[in-house]
Amino acid sequence: MEKLRKIDKVVNLAKTRGFIFPSSEIYGGLNSIYDYGPLGVELKNNIKKAWWDYMVAQENVVGLDSAILMHPKIWEASGHVEGFTDPLVDCKKCKGRFRADHLLEQNGIKPDFNPKDAKALKDIKCPECGGQLTEVRQFNLMFKTFMGPVEAKASQIYIRPETAQGIYTNFLNVMDSQRLKIPFGIAQIGKAFRNEITPGNFIFRMREFEQMEMQYFVQKKDTTKVFNDWKKLRMDWYLDLGVNKNNLKFRDHGKDELAHYAKKAVDIEYNFDFSKNETFKELEGIHDRGDWDLSQHQKHSNAKLTVRDENNKEYIPHIVETSGGVDRATLAFLMDVYEEIEGGRTTTTKSTKDVEVVLKLDKRLAPIKIAILPLSKKENLSKLAKQVFKSLASHYRTMYDETQAIGRRYRRQDEIGTPYCVTVDFESLEDKKVTVRDRDTMKQDRVAIAELEQYFKDKF
Ligand SMILES: [Zn+2]
Repeated sequence: MEKLRKIDKVVNLAKTRGFIFPSSEIYGGLNSIYDYGPLGVELKNNIKKAWWDYMVAQENVVGLDSAILMHPKIWEASGHVEGFTDPLVDCKKCKGRFRADHLLEQNGIKPDFNPKDAKALKDIKCPECGGQLTEVRQFNLMFKTFMGPVEAKASQIYIRPETAQGIYTNFLNVMDSQRLKIPFGIAQIGKAFRNEITPGNFIFRMREFEQMEMQYFVQKKDTTKVFNDWKKLRMDWYLDLGVNKNNLKFRDHGKDELAHYAKKAVDIEYNFDFSKNETFKELEGIHDRGDWDLSQHQKHSNAKLTVRDENNKEYIPHIVETSGGVDRATLAFLMDVYEEIEGGRTTTTKSTKDVEVVLKLDKRLAPIKIAILPLSKKENLSKLAKQVFKSLASHYRTMYDETQAIGRRYRRQDEIGTPYCVTVDFESLEDKKVTVRDRDTMKQDRVAIAELEQYFKDKF
């Protein structure tokens, strides 16, 4: 039997434990669109909160939540209407659709080829059926829709493919209203949409996804220092939240990979290990974008987007961007802590003799912080356990579970990464104490119910 890859196990756990479901599943699903379940939404919210708190705590960084729908001219200024395309070919026989650059790559031709180079593609056949392929055409990745009741070209707008443009177009509003001076940054979390030809790898590349982006406005002379500062800060964020440093690395973009306006770019890559050929993949990018963005918006909007330097000279600010995906981060955090223990860690019940799964998520990210587990469903125990639940649930995301054997319930909590389980047993009725079990060490503490709140305050 072929051994399952870790990604397959994580996908399975995510589905069965309620982290991530395929979207529209009862209708057969919608390609590469996913929904976050009860535990997934908690995990994702915790990741977003950790990012937000970290970013806006940096000097001169403020937040923003701009709209998904924006003036269509924005996407002309940004270059998306003209250039946000992938080279596409169709199979004349089976009607399969492929990215020309991916097909070339699979045939050992470097990805820095010219997609219009028909020669390179001439000998390549459909990978599905061996049929003949069409000429390359450029396919724009932006979703289009119509604003108002008339479905005409004039009312066509785009569903944003990135959150950054909402930051650039609010540059003056934010600076003036907050009385900020360069350098300063604007952070934003929000959904973005890209009509990818070949999405895939679970939530790694989706057509609807969520970004965590920060744009830092600087004078040109400061960009190198600011770029290096953010590069370190962003890597530190993942490390501080417990990601194994061996699974993270920087990758500098080569000159041929850079967008024409970009001065410098580095990716933080994570070892997703999707397949033998797909190990380290982009988790986040840090980019020196020069003054391209504000220059373009100044040109297309006719608004003046300059500021004055210490010599009262006008200039257009340069931008250093950090751009990460919430979904990619979620997948990286899940994969990084997924651990299987052969034979199990506990021997209290038969069920624990198999492989046990433990998610050693950082306490800040764990979807459920505390589980309350009464030893039996007996009424007097339930009553006390529910009191304990009530006292903790207003401070921490807490789960109450009284079904099945206690060993199984511990396992279920380990599988979803709950740091602490509180067991209420018959002795608790007498001594007013409960047992607190630590997910990672399995050490058990006997704690007075009256002192539980303080106990957890120290733990979290
Ligand atoms: Zn075909």
